[in-house]
Amino acid sequence: MKDIIIIGGGVAGLGAALTLGSNKSAINTLVIDDGKSDLKKAELHNIPFVKKGTSGIEALEALKANALEFSSVEFKEGRVLSIDGSKGEFSVKGDGFEFKSKYVILATGAHELNILLNGNAIPTQSHDLMPKDGFIKIDCESRQKLQDGIFVAGLLSGVTTMYATALGSGVEASCAILSDIANKITIIHDFKGSRD
Ligand SMILES: Cc1cc2nc3c(=O)[nH]c(=O)nc-3n(C[C@H](O)[C@H](O)[C@H](O)COP(=O)(O)OP(=O)(O)OC[C@H]3O[C@@H](n4cnc5c(N)ncnc54)[C@H](O)[C@@H]3O)c2cc1C
Repeated sequence: MKDIIIIGGGVAGLGAALTLGSNKSAINTLVIDDGKSDLKKAELHNIPFVKKGTSGIEALEALKANALEFSSVEFKEGRVLSIDGSKGEFSVKGDGFEFKSKYVILATGAHELNILLNGNAIPTQSHDLMPKDGFIKIDCESRQKLQDGIFVAGLLSGVTTMYATALGSGVEASCAILSDIANKITIIHDFKGSRD
């Protein structure tokens, strides 16, 4: 049983994994991704700490490596097809795999959402902040929450299509889940010596 499964290993999903990985007590996190992040098409000139002109592919690999530095974070290539269950015991299935988790983060981008939740399509709306038509988002409650145990991050949660906003919403979903687990507002701040 994983603590959290993140569906989508683009900017938002990996940002969420990085935050969860940095939690001081281990939160077992599995990222499942089918490799089609929008960032792979980009050349970057406006991302903090990323050299101007870096390819999106390189930046994504660097973000993934950051997240995987934490031993509680794992990554699997694959496409998720369905989620069943409820908070505390979700079953996430794809072609040839099934994993269980207590929480799920949906971070699948704005193109499509062909994932069944308890046998039903998840309702989506038109993504009104995209520069072109034909993209989707999910309307969430506050703090990226879709329903108990399921959170939404990145473009799928309706943020503007920029690296920083996608990353930030993944971080927010993570902190919301950590707060839900601890039943109090939880953030992860380090200072010199805090991990000695
Ligand atoms: C051409 C281009 C240039 C850009 N340039 C910039 C720029 O210069 N600066 C900037 O800030 N932003 C830029 N962006 C925007 C940036 O790439 C996006 O805002 C960001 O990638 C969104 O992150 P996300 O995690 O929401 O979605 P994505 O990064 O698209 O990630 C979604 C991930 O979910 C996976 N997925 C989807 N469905 C499933 C499933 N069922 N199972 C498993 N995995 C699934 C996809 O394969 C993908 O890897 C650019 C975008 C494009 C297209």
